[in-house]
Amino acid sequence: MARIRDWNEFHTHLEEGKLKEQAARCMDCGIPFCHTGRLISGMASGCPINNLIPEWNDLVYRGLWREALERLHRTNNFPEFTGRVCPAPCEGSCTVGIHTPPVTIKEIECTIIDKGWEAGWVKPEPPVHRSGKKVAVIGSGPAGLSAAAQLNRAGHLVTVFERADRVGGLLMYGIPNMKLDKQKVVQRRVDLLATEGITFLTNTEVGVNYAAEKLRQEFDAVVICTGATKPRDLPIEGRNLKGVHFAMEFLTANTKAVLGNAACPITARDKDVIVIGGGDTGTDCVGTSVRHGCKSVVQVEILPRPPETRQADNPWPEWPKVYRLDYGQEEAAAMFDGDPRVYLTTAKKFVGDEQGRVKAVHTVEIRWKKDAQGRFVPEEIPGTEKIRPTQLVLLAMGFLGPEQTLLEKLGVDRDNRSNVKAEYDRFATSVPGVFAAGDCRRGQSLVVWAFNEGRTAARECDRYLMGRTDLP
Ligand SMILES: Cc1cc2nc3c(=O)[nH]c(=O)nc-3n(C[C@H](O)[C@H](O)[C@H](O)COP(=O)(O)OP(=O)(O)OC[C@H]3O[C@@H](n4cnc5c(N)ncnc54)[C@H](O)[C@@H]3O)c2cc1C
Ligand code: SF4
Repeated sequence: MARIRDWNEFHTHLEEGKLKEQAARCMDCGIPFCHTGRLISGMASGCPINNLIPEWNDLVYRGLWREALERLHRTNNFPEFTGRVCPAPCEGSCTVGIHTPPVTIKEIECTIIDKGWEAGWVKPEPPVHRSGKKVAVIGSGPAGLSAAAQLNRAGHLVTVFERADRVGGLLMYGIPNMKLDKQKVVQRRVDLLATEGITFLTNTEVGVNYAAEKLRQEFDAVVICTGATKPRDLPIEGRNLKGVHFAMEFLTANTKAVLGNAACPITARDKDVIVIGGGDTGTDCVGTSVRHGCKSVVQVEILPRPPETRQADNPWPEWPKVYRLDYGQEEAAAMFDGDPRVYLTTAKKFVGDEQGRVKAVHTVEIRWKKDAQGRFVPEEIPGTEKIRPTQLVLLAMGFLGPEQTLLEKLGVDRDNRSNVKAEYDRFATSVPGVFAAGDCRRGQSLVVWAFNEGRTAARECDRYLMGRTDLP
């Protein structure tokens, strides 16, 4: 349990011989499903940025690391991020995975890029010519960074506006340091992008301390990459008690504290923590609480426990919907009493003490039933109520879409889920010269989809500015 004593990355590389063995397991399939990046049953199957996986697997097997890096950078601006945080839909669709564990593609990717940085092969590559066009990118998450990198490569002068005090979006203030190091990994890449000529304006919120109209006047095109930052709330009795927080309040405060070498203002130390929401954000809350030194942690999940193996209605090459013990649960299981998740359970009310601080959560088990319209709805199971003592509740139930104020000011149309309306692969909004990419367009998703959208929106923006484009 050494890793929970600090905020360092817990990820370690396989030794080179083992990696080559993994690369050798790749069959260089005629149809490389790992590389295709399709949505099947609403989930990614294969790599959404079409990484040239069989090619770099072979190069790694032959010890040609620099050539492997060159292939990797062709499709991925920032492999050190995906190599650490991507759930790896490539591995979910790898043909070897039909009968044995898939090739460890993500591990190979991460080692290629880490070796590249160590060897000094990753260097600033400023564009040779400038186009004279100016582009504003609003938001510096993975969508904004990949759009900015590509537009700069095409020769445009790019300014990235970020309202936070640091660049990176959820790569900086979302995903915790132990999964993705902020100084050594995120900031290193941001510094390289700045050396290549991209301007980053932090503490600058477009629509608040930088007028949206000014932006339109000063720039030839705009790419909106503001993310899906509106958290889903749980409006039950006691929601306003002290000690009930959105997950992002906790995770952001924690990363700021880690970076500033300070104590986190929201602490889980010696507390019974209840995390509501069984997804990745919830897992990050569990891992963070464990590192704070919580007394116990329970993660409440409304869905059933996934099966151990693929079911007949979830065949390869779909993303396997199977039970996984992610890093946070693994750590909590080692510290306490097994996997902290309780399934098919929901919170009914929070109860407070005389000081207005949360002291318990009432939960109840549910089953899923079809209503008159044929939709699945939760039904409480009588007699399963539980009172769970707690002093810190973290709400990690997903996100409802982008904040609307800026979108209204820019005059862009929204779809029926309140996301920016812009057709996939074209990324043009209803306002000429304004594009949208990432979570603000598709809803809360994955870093790799944000890369896909940022890169492709850059291509379309370049085409708008120049009448043609060479960007991939
Ligand atoms: C806690 C957490 C953990 C996650 N872990 C993973 C993971 O392990 N792997 C994975 O693949 N995905 C993960 N995700 C999802 C992933 O982080 C997102 O899908 C991805 O970051 C979306 O990228 P984006 O660039 O669209 O938006 P964001 O990363 O949300 O960036 C948007 C940026 O826009 C800025 N902004 C908003 N409005 C303005 C404005 N008006 N002016 C200036 N700036 C503005 C915001 O401050 C923010 O920095 C996680 C998400 C969360 C919440
Ligand atoms: S699907 Fe698996 S075995 Fe086939 S090319 Fe991709 S990594 Fe190699």
